[in-house]
Amino acid sequence: MPLRSIDPATGLLHATLEPATAVGLEQALATASRTAGPWGSQPLATRVTLLRALAEGLRAERTRLARLITDEMGKLIAEAEAEIDKCALVCDYYAEHAATQLADIPLASDASRSLLVHQPLGVVLAVMPWNFPFWQVFRCAAPALAAGNVVLLKHASNVPRCALAIADLFTAADAPEGVFQTLLIDAETAEQVVADPRVRAVSLTGSERAGRRVAGIAGANLKKSLLELGGADACVILEDADLERAAEIGARSRFINAGQSCIAAKRFIVVETAADAFVARLQSRVEALVPGDPRDPATTLAPLAREDLRETLHQQVEQSRTAGAELRCGGQPLAGPGWFYAPTLLDRVGPGMPAYDDELFGPVATVIRVADETEALRVANDTRFGLGGSVWSADAARGERFARAMACGAVFVNGLVKSDPRLPFGGIKDSGYGRELGAPGIAEFLNLKTLWVG
Ligand code: NDP
Repeated sequence: MPLRSIDPATGLLHATLEPATAVGLEQALATASRTAGPWGSQPLATRVTLLRALAEGLRAERTRLARLITDEMGKLIAEAEAEIDKCALVCDYYAEHAATQLADIPLASDASRSLLVHQPLGVVLAVMPWNFPFWQVFRCAAPALAAGNVVLLKHASNVPRCALAIADLFTAADAPEGVFQTLLIDAETAEQVVADPRVRAVSLTGSERAGRRVAGIAGANLKKSLLELGGADACVILEDADLERAAEIGARSRFINAGQSCIAAKRFIVVETAADAFVARLQSRVEALVPGDPRDPATTLAPLAREDLRETLHQQVEQSRTAGAELRCGGQPLAGPGWFYAPTLLDRVGPGMPAYDDELFGPVATVIRVADETEALRVANDTRFGLGGSVWSADAARGERFARAMACGAVFVNGLVKSDPRLPFGGIKDSGYGRELGAPGIAEFLNLKTLWVG
């Protein structure tokens, strides 16, 4: 099936691209396999030079690349520009820190000399989603390449032009052939690539369904996998919180990228005594959002990336309402071209509703009212997900105590949950396993080899 690049703001088809042929795919795998050894034995300085050149290329092409992101998956142009900047930052981060992170670690033992040495695994397959079509790829590729691996990218089928543009950046940065390749393949073909013995590890960001499938195949073939899946992050508002600030940051967290972020504040868990005041503040921010052309700087709410995603979201909202959630605003697709959904606020959400139990990937804020801090913690952890979370309190020590008790991979006290090249990122429970970014991010795709010299 050809891959279609469709503008989510208009529904118009921009381009149709032919998928890789079986011969093309085999060539790509052979090239990756052939390149892995030599690339892994290059001096680190060579790999650092590539990362620096990539950062430079991203910055030089910022405007064009951001426009491509917006055209293909619909996010606001300013958010697309920020995404490109962040990709350059992650290249810089690993260019600067890889030498320390990959240095041998001397170990005490019965040997005259024993060490832990860091060696690449070989070919890493990156299966990536459309919501941050550049960032997700660079977040995985920068540390994997710095570590001496080569990368094959299977990108989401709705962002094929971004996938090709990323490969072009590597060519422009003088990456040796085979260090980074985009495979225009469907999910079924990607499963064969996961199983291919030349591929030594797979990193997937996406849905639970895809994660279970890909990890199952990787496991059956005894290869390493890293999964960054969905989330239903709690944003807990304790009664002493700065409600104005919590509403401002909370709204930003929930509605950035039209709500299509794994670490968005998906469940506002609010202590009852603060609930009316918080909900009023949140609602006025939700109602102030301006849906429209994402290329227009005045627009503050982008369309959803695909029509089916909007349909799923609307069903989840309807089912939550039927089960008793109170609709405060929004609650339906917007008329006209494009896949816009009205900015929505659901109050008095509880168990048994999709807004409580599942991930809502769109511009819908969910409020769960709780009696006190103890119940807030119970509800925050009452989810099969465990990606990020946040807590708001005037007392930072209280916030930190609460944060330590939250069952997830990252908690921010009085701040926006965000990814940062310097901070490890990943989840527990059904949000996946493994860590990206920071020092743990480069360690994921390494052979930590023990060396013992008598
Ligand atoms: P998917 O998980 O289907 O897509 C993510 C990536 O996985 C895509 O490249 C996709 O390829 C690929 N993929 C899917 N199934 C397989 C498979 N069996 N083998 C190999 N690769 C596979 O997500 P959707 O785009 O359908 O989004 C659905 C939901 O997933 C969202 O509503 C959201 O809840 C969650 N999601 C979470 C993200 C996050 O950041 N954690 C990002 C995106 C989605 P292809 O496009 O060709 O199917």
